[in-house]
Amino acid sequence: MTGRSFLHSAVKVPSDPSTLLLQPASMPWRLLFLLFLLGITQMTQAAGAPISLDAVSGRYDLNPVIEVLEDPGGKLNLADIQSKTVAEHSFEASSGGLSSFGFTNSAYWFRFSLSNPSPQARQMVLVLRAAWLDSIDFYQPTAVGNYSQRRFGDTLPFSQREHVHPQFLIDLLVEPGTHIYYLRISSQQAFMTPIELWEPEAFHRSDRLLGAYFGMFYGIMLVMVLYNGFIGLSTRDRNHLYYCLYLLAFVAMNFSYNGFAFQYLWPDSPRWLNWSYSSWIFLFQVVAILFAMTFLESRTRLPRMHKVLKVFLSAMLGTWFFTMASGNQLLYNASAVYFIFFMSPLISMSGITAWLAGYKAARFFVLASMASLLGSFITALTVSGFLPYSFSSFHAAEFGILVDVVLLSLALADRINVLREQKNAAELGVIEQKLLTHAWLEKAKNELEHTVQERTAELAKARDEAEHLARMDMLTGISNRRHFEEVSTQEFAWALRYRHPLSMILFDIDFFKLINDTYGHAVGDQVIKRVANAARDAVRELDLVGRIGGEEFAILLPEASMGQAIMTAERLREQIANLVFDHEGHTIGFTASFGVTQIGDGDKGIDTLLQRADQMMYAAKAAGRNRVCATPASFYD
Ligand code: GH3
Ligand code: MG
Ligand code: MG
Repeated sequence: MTGRSFLHSAVKVPSDPSTLLLQPASMPWRLLFLLFLLGITQMTQAAGAPISLDAVSGRYDLNPVIEVLEDPGGKLNLADIQSKTVAEHSFEASSGGLSSFGFTNSAYWFRFSLSNPSPQARQMVLVLRAAWLDSIDFYQPTAVGNYSQRRFGDTLPFSQREHVHPQFLIDLLVEPGTHIYYLRISSQQAFMTPIELWEPEAFHRSDRLLGAYFGMFYGIMLVMVLYNGFIGLSTRDRNHLYYCLYLLAFVAMNFSYNGFAFQYLWPDSPRWLNWSYSSWIFLFQVVAILFAMTFLESRTRLPRMHKVLKVFLSAMLGTWFFTMASGNQLLYNASAVYFIFFMSPLISMSGITAWLAGYKAARFFVLASMASLLGSFITALTVSGFLPYSFSSFHAAEFGILVDVVLLSLALADRINVLREQKNAAELGVIEQKLLTHAWLEKAKNELEHTVQERTAELAKARDEAEHLARMDMLTGISNRRHFEEVSTQEFAWALRYRHPLSMILFDIDFFKLINDTYGHAVGDQVIKRVANAARDAVRELDLVGRIGGEEFAILLPEASMGQAIMTAERLREQIANLVFDHEGHTIGFTASFGVTQIGDGDKGIDTLLQRADQMMYAAKAAGRNRVCATPASFYD
């Protein structure tokens, strides 16, 4: 995630108090590293020994033999350096075979000898890989015994370079014999530089490879920037846009410290250039934190970590502003780099916290930041002199970001998948909800229909009951007079029209008043009930029994002949006469008198029939009661 970290170390404690330094020299593991390096490096050449140009090798690493002298005030000139006192006391072997001095105001002098055993002068090229070095003075012995001086560095316009190249290439003609050379370097950026001596042809061969490498690297980064930018714009996903910015910031930073920005973008603005290196580093970190915040959704998922990230971001923005305002370039550059040491672990920690908190997409994020961190760590170790300079160790940060790019693109795609799944699930939920609602409505409708049916049935039943009650005599449960007359009227009309037989029986309990008076009204009621029941049991299904007065009943017999009606009356009379009613030890018996008649020509209505039956009943009463009297049979039979 961090890009390349400019982790730098000091060879020794600086004498200039304004020098900002990391001092891992005191760490015991640095010793281990040195032992490790001693093991793997063929250190046949002691510091200070001349390098012999053997006409076979294309490349010579000067770092093992180079000697270094710190010039804290930066005031010494070549004469001072060459003077015996200064030179003998201060030139030392370059520790670890690499010249790394962190952030320092000191100038450093380097001394090395080259020996050309051949009779011809050899054209060589001195290569300083760190593109950001401010000021490089190269001192070369001349034929007349003194030294010529040439100046390089990124404080000079790019056009003044001997070679059009982002790194510093110094042409060097080595005359036969052994010669001592001096380099004086000072820089407000991280002081680190591998120094290599190349045979020009060999250098350009290897440089073409490096060019291809950078072409590939920036190509991949460009594709990723476009890809994520396009997805971000089309989906309006902030994550993709922040990631796009993050990659752009990395590319800007990387393009800058690899020297391409100076070569291609602002070759005539060395002042801006020297402020820009660290500006990109600050910008990169700001974007990295913003991206981490959005991707991990720290505001909602990790509120405490979010606060820490916010405080860190504010501190960084504040430092960015104030160190720039201070005008102290060394302070500015050091701050930018030192923030990386906190930013990288902080972002990794946020990722791990989110992962542990169950955020699936954070996995990729953590793996990606680990890859990037490891890359940056290796590069930082290389730049600081803990690891020998090699192409892969120096560019590890770039490999790291490539892995980062792949993993985070996967992470972003994975996030889209997760979101889509969530959306589908939500849509499914809505559909389910709709279905449920529909089912619920259906059920409610059915229930309502059911309820309505029930209510309707209940109402019908109530209505039927009411109707029944209206038709019914309360005491006996048989038809009351009103209902009996209604039905009789219809039956009468039917019988008259189709000349069907229709008979009518009327009967009245004999001496009922006596029962009432003797045993009480309640007993009278019971007698009425018993008589009604007996009448109901004595008739056909077709016949209708009604209570038409206090203890007076009528029976309508459709399709019954006079003879059938008389038989029915006779049977009933006998049954009633045989009824016994036990009351308080008394056995109560009773009888009834019957009048029977039949529909006949000239009958106007049911009343005629009732009147005739009534007359017959009174005839029965008059004749001594407990008997049946009937009108003569008519032609209906
Ligand atoms: P008869 O043989 O001439 O018919 O003599 P009776 O005593 O039955 O005379 P009547 O038919 O005139 O008497 C009817 C009596 O029935 C009058 C009334 O007090 C009594 N009564 C009428 N309705 C009810 C009733 O619902 N319950 C009781 N317990 N008595 C009733
Ligand atoms: Mg009576
Ligand atoms: Mg009566």
